[in-house]
Amino acid sequence: MSNDGPTLNDDAFKGGRAPTGHVHSHGKGVTHSHPMTPGQHAHADRRGAGDQPSSGAGHDFDLPALPSAVDVFDTTLRDGSQQEGLSLTVDDKLKVAEQLDHLGVTFIEGGWPGANPKDEEFFARAPTELSLSRSTLVAFGSTRRAGVRAEDDETLRHLVNAQTEAVCIVAKSSEMHVVDALRTTLDEAVAMVADSVEFLRANDLRVFLDAEHFFDGFKANAPFAKRILRAAEEAGAETLVLCDTNGGSLPFEIERIVADVVGGFETQVGVHFHNDSGCAVANSLVAVGVGATQVQGCVNGYGERAGNTDLSAAIPDLSLKLRVQTIPADRLELLTPVSHHISELVNIAPNPQQPFVGGSVFAHKAGLHTSAIARRSDAYEHIAPELVGNGTRFVVSEMAGRSTLAMKAKELGLELDSQAMASVLDSLKRLEYEGYHFEVADGSLELLLRNATGWEQEFFELESYRVIADHGQGESTEATVKVLVGNERIVATAEGNGPVNALDGAVRGAIGSHYPSLAGVHLVDYRVRVLDSAKGTGSVTRVLIDSTDGDRTWTTIGVSENIIAASWQALSDSIVYGLLRAGASPGVPGTD
Ligand SMILES: [Zn+2]
Repeated sequence: MSNDGPTLNDDAFKGGRAPTGHVHSHGKGVTHSHPMTPGQHAHADRRGAGDQPSSGAGHDFDLPALPSAVDVFDTTLRDGSQQEGLSLTVDDKLKVAEQLDHLGVTFIEGGWPGANPKDEEFFARAPTELSLSRSTLVAFGSTRRAGVRAEDDETLRHLVNAQTEAVCIVAKSSEMHVVDALRTTLDEAVAMVADSVEFLRANDLRVFLDAEHFFDGFKANAPFAKRILRAAEEAGAETLVLCDTNGGSLPFEIERIVADVVGGFETQVGVHFHNDSGCAVANSLVAVGVGATQVQGCVNGYGERAGNTDLSAAIPDLSLKLRVQTIPADRLELLTPVSHHISELVNIAPNPQQPFVGGSVFAHKAGLHTSAIARRSDAYEHIAPELVGNGTRFVVSEMAGRSTLAMKAKELGLELDSQAMASVLDSLKRLEYEGYHFEVADGSLELLLRNATGWEQEFFELESYRVIADHGQGESTEATVKVLVGNERIVATAEGNGPVNALDGAVRGAIGSHYPSLAGVHLVDYRVRVLDSAKGTGSVTRVLIDSTDGDRTWTTIGVSENIIAASWQALSDSIVYGLLRAGASPGVPGTD
């Protein structure tokens, strides 16, 4: 098996196209690529313009042990789901796994069979309902208990019954935890690892060993921590995964300890970091720099406390900057859509400031900056956003001048003549004075710009709406919407837990059958703010709605003295924008 990744003067990254194909690097015999020699640059060229220097290119580091490829091991469904407030049904778990496979991670840890009914059901359904084309499903468990034979241990039996090709078992590798938590001897802890790995290998399973509290354990008693690894290696484990379970380690010590282990063992070394010191991604990079070839973590950095290594950052850092192959290179541009899709599945709003995939991380405000970025987009961006499926965004605010707006229009592919431009600028100023905030409402801004080109939405025409809030048998809100779709007049009523929810239900009831694609558009967040009268307009309510179609999230806005009217504006923009994105044809029944 060849582990040759892209060579360092490889031109395949040019023009935003990275080399295809994925190289697995598990097991022994991981080959190392050569370090970059001075003057040799690997450009991930941003625009395919040939010799323009690229700030998104690989960097030159003196890293003789840097591998050419690593395995990405996602543990969102196991460790990530420990996050407070994150709860997944079995259906959700299957969908998340599908997304991870779509992205092309090497391994997907599905959960702990036998530990809870949900994970049990997941592994029971996975063989028939999950068809993975790129990833390998892994079941998680622990070593045998102290004083129990491996063949009599229930956890190990569940692992065998899970019917996966690979399993990951956790073992305590810190003396303190063996003595104080397990309350057994160091020798027994070593035997637990040896017996368990041997048993699982005898059942034809690929075995990864998660060495829990490894770094803290190594600092206190390195010989014992290494005995645990040695026992796993001798019993046939495929990967020794060094875990920073408490997340307190810093890159300097990680570099030293991982290098020590890589130098002392033949087996593949993996790493699993928690982000309690804010260093999980940095620690992962440093570990790969000294020869680790499996990186564990979670999409979007989910996990308990401060989370796990954010794979949405670790993957592009490794691929684009260190030039180490992670997911198949042609899948990198799925990073942002998959990250957003998964955040929708786990029902946690995406963080706009999340590196690489956040909605704000390639956004530029008006001013000096914007005119500079119009000339050279790499002047203020560390990589070309398209490489990871994100995009440059120009943020428009009342500070905005003509040039910012022109760029925004260009970004949207809209032609605005100077008269239209002047009128949009006027409306923007007036609306922002009234309390609109287009900087955060990209969806409504786009509709405003489209209107300026003479475009009008023809999906539906509002005749009237009515909202009734009831305080009786619990709280409920009922909304009735009367609309015209083409020549058809439709009246629909729905109940909800608030005005936005009820109006949303009613409008979907009214136009949903004309526009089936609306079923794929969901409201994900709803924020109301009462603005005071500082601007002399009396007290008004601003409503912001975030919606998504799974690929992208957009925000729409409504402002009014009446909260229902503000809600309707934001909701109606959200739906119109969703239909536009879905390419729906106005007024034609069922043909979108
Ligand atoms: Zn963990």
